Amino acid sequence: MTDHPEPARGWFDSHCHLGHGDLPEEAREVRAASVVAAAQRVGVSQLVDVGIDAESSRLAAARAIRLPGVRFTAGLHPCSAHHLDRDWPQIEDLARRQDCAALGETGFDFHWQPDARAVQQRAFERHLALARELGRTVIVHSREAFDATFEVLAEHPGARSIIHCFSGGPREAERALELGCRLSFAGPLTWRNTTELQEAARLTPLDRILIETDAPFLTPAPHRGTINEPAYVRHVGHRLAELLERDPQEIADTTARNAREMLGGEDRQTDHG
Ligand SMILES: [Zn+2]
Repeated sequence: MTDHPEPARGWFDSHCHLGHGDLPEEAREVRAASVVAAAQRVGVSQLVDVGIDAESSRLAAARAIRLPGVRFTAGLHPCSAHHLDRDWPQIEDLARRQDCAALGETGFDFHWQPDARAVQQRAFERHLALARELGRTVIVHSREAFDATFEVLAEHPGARSIIHCFSGGPREAERALELGCRLSFAGPLTWRNTTELQEAARLTPLDRILIETDAPFLTPAPHRGTINEPAYVRHVGHRLAELLERDPQEIADTTARNAREMLGGEDRQTDHG
């Protein structure tokens, strides 16, 4: 024991978008490599780069081969669900690759598209069916749409699912846990005035919790106002440690283990000593 323990290491950012933004392709890939390197320097050793359509999934898959500690998913975001017929063949090919971490993100977004339930549901069910066939996890996006999300998940018992950037309170957390979901907490956990969300985190068993940045969105405190990046997942982890009254290293180890169980990846716990 020392008075100044080593900062926690071995963090796993279960959800980010390395290629998001308006940069031209080459500059975007340079930036992706540099944010991954920056994350690894501060102990974020693994992350999952999440696809939102065929093109972003394809680029994420290519990046995952080049960048150490990076895995990819293949999926169609609910706000792009109307591209299902165009994008699905490519998404399915990527999802069948041995190195694909999960399907998604998929689900419902009634904040941006309040009238698109049928279109979004068709895409969501397509992901769930393929994930079941392949024995893979589904990353679920649910914005202002918990009722619809839970209805669909209830019809797919046994699905391996992560509700990403969980935004509900205790009631929604309890229902999601009953349905077997993992909950992934993001930057809002570090914000003030998210009491209900913090309550939800407190009642979630530690073996069902993941953490993420959803970078470049939802920057955690104390970096609000800047572009989010995977290195900042530590702030979500530290806030969770505070809420659960646990040691940050225990939170890093446990959430990384949960993420590996759902999303694959090597055991990098030996990286810290
Ligand atoms: Zn996302």
